[in-house]
Amino acid sequence: MKTVNIAIDGPSGAGKSSISKKVAADLGFIHVDTGAMYRAIGLYAIRNGCLEPDQIAAVIEDVDVTLRFIGGSQRVMLCGEDVTDHIRTPEVSMAASKVSAVPAVRAHLLDLQKKIAAENDIIMDGRDIGSVVLPHADLKIFLTASAEERASRRYLELREKPDCPPYEDILRDIRQRDENDMHRAIAPLTQAPDAVLVDSTSMGFNEVVDTITAMIRETID
Ligand code: C5P
Repeated sequence: MKTVNIAIDGPSGAGKSSISKKVAADLGFIHVDTGAMYRAIGLYAIRNGCLEPDQIAAVIEDVDVTLRFIGGSQRVMLCGEDVTDHIRTPEVSMAASKVSAVPAVRAHLLDLQKKIAAENDIIMDGRDIGSVVLPHADLKIFLTASAEERASRRYLELREKPDCPPYEDILRDIRQRDENDMHRAIAPLTQAPDAVLVDSTSMGFNEVVDTITAMIRETID
């Protein structure tokens, strides 16, 4: 049976995951957050002191990353351990950005991503979904917002927490990750030629959800 595959790419902090999660729940699709898979490998690299490209490449075959979907919600398993709640720190973000530039790491995750898409109706979000993972996706969306807007959304989210970094640090991290993601040699962050651009800089969450849901409905109806 042919499954419906929707690809959503874009830079860090553009809201891809929260938007995809809501749209997928509304449509009864599975949301696959591929960033979480790279984050799990980043966490592995931190824990095992193998952040350098040749170090992580040497052990990647032993790094077992799988996804579980519980009530439509994604859990990330690293070598059998549920690490979903340990992969959202700034340290893991940077480690994920670093290890994701290693070709062996990307190859390791590609088959699993393709397999999930072949077996389920999905919205998959990441950086290279429309360009590499699902080149024949039914619909490709490139969701972006200015770096300042993305940093300010993140700051508002973290503001109440005791260890909230200053806005300037969040902006610097976002720019650094954009730089890493766009300029790596393999599968760089890029808008696929057939992807539709959604710039959410001056849009609210619900407006983006409605816009993307309407685009998907139009595609599959
Ligand atoms: O989307 P998220 O910020 O959780 O992704 C974490 C990191 O994983 C990103 O900074 C990016 O470098 C990497 N990534 C990637 N390709 C994807 C998804 C994420 O390289 N498809």
